[in-house]
Amino acid sequence: MAEPYKIVVGLEVHVQLLTKTKLFCGCLNKFGLPPNSATCPVCLGLPGALPVMNEHAFRLALRAALALNCQIASHPGQTPGFTKWDRKNYYYPDLPKNFQISQYDLPFSHDGFLDINVAKDPKKDYTAKRIGIIRAHLEEDAGKNLHDESGKGQDTLVDLNRTGTPLLEIVSHPDMNTPEEAIAYLDEIRLLLREIGVSDCEMQEGSLRCDANVNIHIPSADEPKGYVATPLVEVKNLNSFRGVGRAIAYEAKRHYDEYKADTKGTFRFGKMLKTTAGWDDAKGITVVQRHKEEAADYRYFPEPDLVPVVVTAELIEQVKAETGELPSVARTRLQSQYGLTAYDAQVLTAKGRKTVAYFEAVAKALNDGKAASNRMSDLIYPALTERKEEIEAFPISATAFAEFLQKAPTNSQDRRDVFKIVLETGISVDEAKAKAGIKEMDETALRAAVLTAIAANPKSVADFKSGKTAAANKIKGEVMKANKGVANDLVQRLLDEELAKL
Ligand SMILES: [Zn+2]
Repeated sequence: MAEPYKIVVGLEVHVQLLTKTKLFCGCLNKFGLPPNSATCPVCLGLPGALPVMNEHAFRLALRAALALNCQIASHPGQTPGFTKWDRKNYYYPDLPKNFQISQYDLPFSHDGFLDINVAKDPKKDYTAKRIGIIRAHLEEDAGKNLHDESGKGQDTLVDLNRTGTPLLEIVSHPDMNTPEEAIAYLDEIRLLLREIGVSDCEMQEGSLRCDANVNIHIPSADEPKGYVATPLVEVKNLNSFRGVGRAIAYEAKRHYDEYKADTKGTFRFGKMLKTTAGWDDAKGITVVQRHKEEAADYRYFPEPDLVPVVVTAELIEQVKAETGELPSVARTRLQSQYGLTAYDAQVLTAKGRKTVAYFEAVAKALNDGKAASNRMSDLIYPALTERKEEIEAFPISATAFAEFLQKAPTNSQDRRDVFKIVLETGISVDEAKAKAGIKEMDETALRAAVLTAIAANPKSVADFKSGKTAAANKIKGEVMKANKGVANDLVQRLLDEELAKL
């Protein structure tokens, strides 16, 4: 690392759960409805209205927690599985009840982990790093304040459709040390939660939100720990994964500059309160907003209108059974079952379960996992990108693709050409090969072509026999050129055999 410090990052991720209705009432949980159309006395906090827990939301949250390898409500002195709701009290215009139902000291899940890819070049390699999860708890979301909708300023509208929708908060340990690691963590969380159907994780629609807790450690031999830690800053308003990375890099540099300019020794962890800063993506800077309220300021107390939940071992088993294969498990399985490299398995799982299923069908039909993976990278993925299509809508099924590969030219450029024709016209592989001017040749015909080329190049043959082995390449090149689509390795073998006879 070039910088004279170590970056330390923990992330708080909020994801909206894919439920039909809100967490404590029957209002729709749907993005894009007309403002304030999905509200009722419960989520508006009207007097006398009582919340009722959405069991499906709890199951989805449980599914996420188990996938994040969390312990489920294992709290000292409590019945195993016991978890409760708490009121977090604060005033804000988008929070009509003046409190949020959340979980404070006994969250339903805690102490998990997530493995992420931290390879130096994640586009070429795979190296796992384990990021600890402190806790994941369930809470209701607040509404939205819409500032300056008129464009003339001085107006704020409140939309309470989001009020009371289910939100899972996932808090990591400060185990990430570069902007890239933070992005890799977010990538993995998004893949995981999408795959298991917990959230669609659309950052643009706010169904995945992220705050980053950042500070740096500067090596110092005078310190008992061997380094000086700067005060924690929580960066908010992060609107994209790239923004998260940029904000972390910016904040780390700012910390170092502040530390260098600090003559009184006060810019240190423990000597300053944690601050909150907003990320301004257009300007590429953070703006310090306020000193963070301590937990006590929220005056948490147990929610009196909801009964606590006891998660049973039976429920955990049911939820595990409905979750399906996790990306991390699929990654390992694809390596052992099909001989893929860790990197190839990573690429494949990152594309989702439907792509994995497609791959497995092709690999089984070819009885060759590596070839299936390589040909999907060469042919299928670029075509999907170009056509802006998902694998399930792709016109060539896994079975048809396996058949294509069995008949396709072995030369990679010819194969791409023929694939393009098949994809665009829907004609058969043989017809497409004819259309591309690619001749089929059996071994006998090809051997004859090799002999013709040998006879036509006496000088090259003489050079070859005098020890200049590279002279054979000229002969091979002529055979390849005259016979479009023939396999490179087959021509090489026949040429080697015939030259050896001379
Ligand atoms: Zn409601």
